[in-house]
Amino acid sequence: MNAKPLKLLFISTPVGSLGTGLGGGVELSLYNIAQEMNRRGHLLQIVAPVGSTWNMPLIQIPGNLQIIAQSQQRTDPVTMPENSVLANMWEYARQVQNDFDLIVNFAYDWLPFYLTPFFKCPIAHLVSMGSLLDALDQILVQVSKQFPGTIGFHTHQQAVTFPELTPPIHYLSNGIDLSIYQFCAQPKQQLGWIGRISPEKGLEDAFAVAKSTGISLKIMGKIQDELYWQQITQDYPNTPFEYLGFLSTAEMQQILRDCQGLLMTPRWVEAFGNVTIESLACGVPVISYRRGGPAEIIQDGKTGFLVEPDSVAGLVEATQRLNEIDRYTCRAWAETEYSLTALGSRFEQWFEEILNSKF
Ligand code: UDP
Repeated sequence: MNAKPLKLLFISTPVGSLGTGLGGGVELSLYNIAQEMNRRGHLLQIVAPVGSTWNMPLIQIPGNLQIIAQSQQRTDPVTMPENSVLANMWEYARQVQNDFDLIVNFAYDWLPFYLTPFFKCPIAHLVSMGSLLDALDQILVQVSKQFPGTIGFHTHQQAVTFPELTPPIHYLSNGIDLSIYQFCAQPKQQLGWIGRISPEKGLEDAFAVAKSTGISLKIMGKIQDELYWQQITQDYPNTPFEYLGFLSTAEMQQILRDCQGLLMTPRWVEAFGNVTIESLACGVPVISYRRGGPAEIIQDGKTGFLVEPDSVAGLVEATQRLNEIDRYTCRAWAETEYSLTALGSRFEQWFEEILNSKF
């Protein structure tokens, strides 16, 4: 723990206002890290796009949202909308940087990396997705060389999707406020699926499981791609499912905890997968493809099942074996590995290392 409180400036993702779900897992990660840094006595300011609805002091910055990286081609040039909220947030950071010890960047965008050498205040970059864009890969390599140790990842599986970066590489995992997630020993006959509804999340495979097993699928999350959603509901008629919308964490865990299992069906390398640990915290085992963050979080046969990527048959088989998993073990694993305290210690150590570096 720090002797002296740190003055931290957190710059949010520019793809959506906080509280809308557009930012995906970044929103919960930012919220939890901020909460824990406040609890530890650090002085924090959060900068986010206007329209953010969090019950926490925020500097709200106007401007147009950034296009999500998942919808772009790998070789696409860097694009910026007119009156970009990303640029506006970083202009604000430039103006106030002298009041802070460290800026923390939560955007998966080229600009903050490019701006790093132009700032006097050191910048920590938390990368929230695997490699998707060549331009971003290239600037990450450059920043990691010039400012080693300033780029943080959630998991090893995520970091290895990027070209070789200069060490040290920080793996920060994630953490949640376990007191919000209630344990449930006796589930109902239902499965959960939670996430942004967007092609890289592979929701159609969870529909296929529901159709094949007849077990009702509870779906929670922001519909980011309306056509994709409509296509799935057309392709899987007579499938038992219920779409509940984008829920608050408190509402979401009420449904989640009653599920026999959570299905995770990512087509891409999930950087972490917050929903994995949220599920374990409720005592709900997770069935996921063996790729990306969930493959590092789930212990196969103990806290869920890891199945061959893109194998619906594998998901169905694992669903039939869910009663082999002890739900208390799931909760205990979340408590040991993914508490806010554990998260705070990892981040504090990372911040200290950056501040002690001589670039
Ligand atoms: N989420 C939520 N309400 C919902 C559905 C999802 O708050 O109804 C949150 C969930 O808690 C998680 C995030 O959305 O923090 C999804 O993050 P994840 O890391 O699983 O995937 P990402 O969207 O970042 O790819």
